[in-house]
Amino acid sequence: MIDFSQFDSLIAMTMYFNNEAVCRNAIVETRWGIGEEQDIVCPYCGQHHCATRKDGKFRCNHCKRNFTCKVGTIFEDSNLSLVK
Ligand SMILES: [Zn+2]
Repeated sequence: MIDFSQFDSLIAMTMYFNNEAVCRNAIVETRWGIGEEQDIVCPYCGQHHCATRKDGKFRCNHCKRNFTCKVGTIFEDSNLSLVK
């Protein structure tokens, strides 16, 4: 999980989160963990261990819905890039 205390200034944090992939990874890690500890939970039905798709989205094998790491967060309805 991202340790936000590692950033000693807003500029340092802005420089770290300088592309969408880094931002997406930070959200995924914060919500669902990393590596073998990772457990993607469906934001629609609560099913655990959802599949990761090749395009970086996720698919629930219970309710069969696809979702991104933004669904269910404050970023879901935003048109702004994650970097912003
Ligand atoms: Zn589901």
